[in-house]
Amino acid sequence: MSAKEIPYKIYLEESEMPKDWYNVRAHMKNKPAPLLNPGTHKPMTFEELQPVFCDELVKQELDDTTAYIPIPEEIRNFYKMYRPSPLVRAYCLEEKLQTPAKIYYKFEGNNTSGSHKLNSAIAQAYYARKQGLKGVTTETGAGQWGTALSMACAYLGLDCRVYMVKVSYEQKPFRREVMRTYGASVTPSPSETTQVGRKILERHPGTTGSLGCAISEAVEAATSREGYRYVLGSVLNQVLLHQSVIGLEAKTAMDKYDIKPDIIIGCAGGGSNLGGLISPFMGEKLRGEQDYHFIAVEPASCPSLTRGRFAYDFCDTGMVCPLAKMYTLGSGFIPSANHAGGLRYHGMSPVLSQLYDDGLMEARTVEQTAVFEAAQQFARVEGILPAPESSHAIRVAIDEAMKCKETGEEKTILFGLTGTGYFDMVAYEKYNNGEMADYIPTDAELQAGFDGLPVVE
Ligand SMILES: *Cc1c(COP(=O)(O)O)cnc(C)c1O
Repeated sequence: MSAKEIPYKIYLEESEMPKDWYNVRAHMKNKPAPLLNPGTHKPMTFEELQPVFCDELVKQELDDTTAYIPIPEEIRNFYKMYRPSPLVRAYCLEEKLQTPAKIYYKFEGNNTSGSHKLNSAIAQAYYARKQGLKGVTTETGAGQWGTALSMACAYLGLDCRVYMVKVSYEQKPFRREVMRTYGASVTPSPSETTQVGRKILERHPGTTGSLGCAISEAVEAATSREGYRYVLGSVLNQVLLHQSVIGLEAKTAMDKYDIKPDIIIGCAGGGSNLGGLISPFMGEKLRGEQDYHFIAVEPASCPSLTRGRFAYDFCDTGMVCPLAKMYTLGSGFIPSANHAGGLRYHGMSPVLSQLYDDGLMEARTVEQTAVFEAAQQFARVEGILPAPESSHAIRVAIDEAMKCKETGEEKTILFGLTGTGYFDMVAYEKYNNGEMADYIPTDAELQAGFDGLPVVE
């Protein structure tokens, strides 16, 4: 550690922003397993993926060997509107905790979508536009991804159709209206507008929907319409690639001050922010240059890494998407209705799943009341009202800092603060009223999800 004084916020110059995305797959000894055709169980080819995704994105999805992929200048210019994002030294939190640990967070909430998702939304919309497409379809849960995509589409003049999980559509009208303000059409899912939606409604009348189900509808909406493609905000290799800007910027900023993180923490829903944050650091670990302790944090009520199976599974409830090999709770898994903290997806990015299976990363679960307690503590000293999702990482960062207090170790902790929580006040209200309950699914409940896993030879 150098004697240089570390500022509260480490900003980068525009000229120091990354010019390439980093593809961690290039340095993985065990590559993530290929996507399989759900009918034949053979690896999906470029041609089979083309009707679903844009050509350039299919290339990125299948590319396990190119380490650095240039970021087109137009995307870099868009990034400049809200990046580089600050790397903050949490001096106030350290003081409050009376910990010898040094805590840093990379803050991705400084844009209207309120999260890191815009980093991939603009890239995916850019390639769709470049291919001359009319529009894109997608799913959204709480609405951050849909918001990010609608912003990117508005900027590039693309039509944007969002299938929003019904319970969020009804409970989170504000994000829905942000999307519509940016020109997107928003449909509550499951809906009567697609075959798969009608089928799900028939089988489960009154269902409040799930991400997996909204994905099925969005895929059908894209593949049944000329000039449309489907885009996904997490899980896929291409999304982790785009999100590597988070880790690349963080690493450049830390290198400027000779800071080496000991522990790197991120919340894990589908794995995109965590994958993006850790990618360049994981690359060093994979190449044997440095060692880091990576921690993925997931909700106890949706524990895909810690209690899931590492198996081929459907990415969606309607079983229309390719199969991905990942840690999964089964595509039929729906978290308990009282779960308010986000990170509800049943599976985990195949890249992160493989890294975890290879023992390169730890995973931990946290219960939601403990998550909101950490959120509140953080908000009161650091001034940022964090998203519930991000607060999973805050929880474990605080836990690790408190361990340092006991042992006297001066560890350096870096965590991803993925976004702000202004649109999540119904969840905060529950917590503030003391009405928030924790729910941990039983083994029997999880077994029901595993029973629905496809049999792949
Ligand atoms: C979507 C989202 C997440 C989780 O998604 P990942 O793909 O796991 O990163 C985390 N935090 C915020 C603020 C989000 O919007």
